[in-house]
Amino acid sequence: MTSFQDLIIDKAFIGGQWCGAESTFAVTDPATGETLAQVPELSADQVRDAVAAADAAWHPWKRKTAKERSALLRAWFNAIMANQQALAELMTREQGKPLAEAIGEVAYGAAFVEYYAEEAKRMAGETLPGHGADKRILVFREPVGVVAAITPWNFPLAMITRKCAPALAAGCTVVIKPAEATPLTALALARLAEEVGIPAGVINVVTSSSPREVGPVLTGDPRVRKVSFTGSTGVGKILLAQCADTVKKASMELGGNAPFIVFDDADLDAAVEGAVASKYRNSGQTCVCTNRLLVQDGVYDVFVEKLARRVAELKVGNGLEAGVLQGPLINAAAVDKVQAHIADAVGKGAQIVCGGKPHELGGTFYEPTVLRDVTPEMRVAREETFGPLAPVFRFHSDDEAIAMANDTEFGLAAYFYARDYRRIWHTMEALEYGMVAVNEGILSTELAPFGGVKESGLGREGSRHGMDEYTELKYACVGGL
Ligand code: ADP
Repeated sequence: MTSFQDLIIDKAFIGGQWCGAESTFAVTDPATGETLAQVPELSADQVRDAVAAADAAWHPWKRKTAKERSALLRAWFNAIMANQQALAELMTREQGKPLAEAIGEVAYGAAFVEYYAEEAKRMAGETLPGHGADKRILVFREPVGVVAAITPWNFPLAMITRKCAPALAAGCTVVIKPAEATPLTALALARLAEEVGIPAGVINVVTSSSPREVGPVLTGDPRVRKVSFTGSTGVGKILLAQCADTVKKASMELGGNAPFIVFDDADLDAAVEGAVASKYRNSGQTCVCTNRLLVQDGVYDVFVEKLARRVAELKVGNGLEAGVLQGPLINAAAVDKVQAHIADAVGKGAQIVCGGKPHELGGTFYEPTVLRDVTPEMRVAREETFGPLAPVFRFHSDDEAIAMANDTEFGLAAYFYARDYRRIWHTMEALEYGMVAVNEGILSTELAPFGGVKESGLGREGSRHGMDEYTELKYACVGGL
């Protein structure tokens, strides 16, 4: 059986070659501080080589039949699942998430590869009625071309497969720029793709700890036809502006400020479970994590008490230890942000119900925290905390809850718990979000279109709609018939 050590690769992957560079940077385990590997700090020229390799591989890949691409994706899916345990352990080591969550992420991430292996065969065009008796209209769906995929550290595997699987299915090739904290999972995925016979140049991985330098190389290259990014809204705006120069297609999965509304007719125990799942998964470090809990006046005290009791039970520790549900935060800056949000809220009158300080384990471990009496003047109302902090706001009427929920420039995920069916329909329709979870705490699946509105992004990942991001329509007018 493969162990996680077998999957540690300290080379970048360009045009089917494993390459080093003049310098390297360290990848560390956030739970222990141990260095896992030194990976290449690629030069701008090496990144351009990766684009050239993807460009050279594009036409042969696009010319394969959909069935051939499908079979290779299916083989990649099988290889990922055959290495589920080792990949999960590698991910826990470089990212910190509890092993059970990492195992879940491998299955979730692999599911995109499986789904788009199937979808590759359904990339149908259409024929339309012509605008003259001697004319016909044909619509082809064609791959957009070389894709640059810039991915974050919070889902080191799934954010890559979510982009690469539909891209490859459509006939595109990719240059992946993984987050500097988690390149090892990306490299392991590329190794598995190589092993199952995905041709050289179709998947390339460029490693660097200087994204500000690599970004413009990718966005400025006319051979790159599409940028698919998952990360913070600030960086997304920079990349979108850079894409404007060469008018590239762009997909952006950006930040959120997810509300989680608990109405007074909700099943409170179910709402607590949903809130814990949504808030504390990956120690609060996901873009769809609940950022604000909005709880109706009549059930506020009971809900806060039940939530705090549940949160106090969450075991904090190294993600490899059995029973741990909260790993370390990714780095010291992440801890600082949680601390700053708590200090600001407490300074303006919020109360700490549980947690509220760094965990006694030290490092970047933080106590899962619940704050009550939180108001819209506090930073937590507007900014994404991206950590294990649940601020509980109070509301009185449905209209007030919806106004509070929508009072943000973000629009990724929203959650609410209620029983009354009119209230459910009204709230579902009134929330200005790309995704709404009704009486559910987790909504990500390869079967649904994931994505946001407003400053949370552009485009969708998952479902059949995910293929559209990697295809262009070509219309042919056939005349003289
Ligand atoms: P986070 O704040 O969660 O680390 P970022 O948006 O900074 O999120 O990072 C997401 C991805 O974007 C990472 O791969 C990172 O290296 C990359 N990145 C960060 N800054 C830039 C930039 N200026 N240009 C291109 N990519 C960037």
